[in-house]
Amino acid sequence: MRYHQPPVYTAENECQDCSKCVRHCPVKAIKVADGQARIGPEKCVACGTCVRVCPAKAKRVRDDLDEVKQLLRQPKKVFVSIAPSYVSEFPDVSTSKMIAALRRLGFAGVSETALGAQEVSAKVVRELNEGRKKLLLSSACPAAVTYVQK
Ligand code: SF4
Ligand code: SF4
Repeated sequence: MRYHQPPVYTAENECQDCSKCVRHCPVKAIKVADGQARIGPEKCVACGTCVRVCPAKAKRVRDDLDEVKQLLRQPKKVFVSIAPSYVSEFPDVSTSKMIAALRRLGFAGVSETALGAQEVSAKVVRELNEGRKKLLLSSACPAAVTYVQK
């Protein structure tokens, strides 16, 4: 399993040392050392900006496909939570077809990641109704939450 690896990484052989990612990283997590633009995992919030701007496609998002296949081979139920944004990747696939396809792949059930965002919103509402004066973050965006944590 490679879950300990950060979600965004550099394919160092592909880096052309142009520093574009360094300039665009919103949290200054990338430093050039030995001709390589390296991501500091202690600062990176996995926003994906560097992946989008790198002209050499050297910044990449970790691919967990093999890990998922391994999970599905195990004799336990595996559930999948998909983000509502999946439609941007599969614009011609209806929700029912997507659920059926995931079930055929072996997932025991399919849920929507937005349910987590709903829980966050409900918690914020409860906190607001209690009227306590404290700073609240209502965003469920992982990059925003990670930014605050770090
Ligand atoms: S933008 Fe890409 S090619 Fe340029 S320094 Fe960053 S990783 Fe290397
Ligand atoms: S994913 Fe975002 S925060 Fe992380 S190194 Fe790239 S631009 Fe910076």
